Amino acid sequence: EFDVLVVGGGPAGSSAAIYAARKGLKTGIVADKFGGQVSETIGIENFISVKATEGPKLVANLEEHVKDYDVDIMQGQRANKLITDNGFTIGLESGASLKSKTVLLATGARWREMNIPGEQEYRGKGVAYCPHCDGPLFKGKRVAVIGGGNSGIEAAIDLAGIVEHVTVLEFDSKLRADQVLQNKANSMGNIDIITQAQTTEVIGNGTKVTGLNYTNRETGENHHVELAGIFVQIGLVPNTEWLDSVELTNRGEVIVDNQGQTNIPGVFACGDVTNSAYKQIIIAMGSGATASLGAFDHLIRQAA
Ligand code: FAD
Repeated sequence: EFDVLVVGGGPAGSSAAIYAARKGLKTGIVADKFGGQVSETIGIENFISVKATEGPKLVANLEEHVKDYDVDIMQGQRANKLITDNGFTIGLESGASLKSKTVLLATGARWREMNIPGEQEYRGKGVAYCPHCDGPLFKGKRVAVIGGGNSGIEAAIDLAGIVEHVTVLEFDSKLRADQVLQNKANSMGNIDIITQAQTTEVIGNGTKVTGLNYTNRETGENHHVELAGIFVQIGLVPNTEWLDSVELTNRGEVIVDNQGQTNIPGVFACGDVTNSAYKQIIIAMGSGATASLGAFDHLIRQAA
């Protein structure tokens, strides 16, 4: 039986495991794929104190740091059940199960994709999902933002300060973003907003994005826009489908308190899977530390 079982091996889970092991707690990490979203990232320039790194390199560093401690890493395993019994049981898709006194949920999230031709081919070559991360790569260039919700319009405002021009493409007949954000976007000289636009294809020259095609859903006309970058902002989906007893927001994010604890005492959560305001590596790691210290506090208050 573990004292702390971390589900997920991204930045949040790695940080949580190190903090738990440093308290002398019997710690395990069960993860589908160690490294999480970072494995899919090319350049990382906002992991403070490391001026520039690459996803696979950061994953290797994370793993090396975790392995410096007595942490049991179980890779290639997906959790599909959380059962509260005498402590907790995590059920795995393989049919096996793991017991622990506390559970730290760190299963992260995934960006919702457009699922159109060219998207996968040009991912990281102009197709981007994170304006905070990749915005500066498009300095002085033309970009599109797909999605007119809050995150799309926030991204457009953010990018408009860096890039030459932003075209926002919204599928619906109107934007869903807050009015104040829409007003701000409209007041900026270099943002165009196109509604009723169904993005149909990412166009590139083999090495990078050169444009996109979309159809006007009202007229049926096809259009081509030349640009260097496409920021997809149609939602971040937390990996919580397998949880049925943990309290979630209406977007499916795990609700945590300021110690990272969920509605179930002894079950903590950290990183992108939670209702944290922003989703970044440095934030995920910080919340991993918080949740782990929260679990430690919880354990020392249990009857011997
Ligand atoms: P994740 O990294 O999502 O890790 C989740 C972990 O849980 C993985 O190990 C996964 O395999 C595992 N898992 C999921 N479900 C299960 C399950 N049921 N059972 C077992 N294991 C499971 N942030 C920055 O700060 N800077 C950047 O430059 C940057 N660039 C990015 C570029 C891209 C393309 C993407 C996608 C994200 C980027 N981000 C960046 C965001 C950053 O990667 C995330 O905020 C961060 O990885 C979140 O960490 P996490 O540990 O919470 O979750």
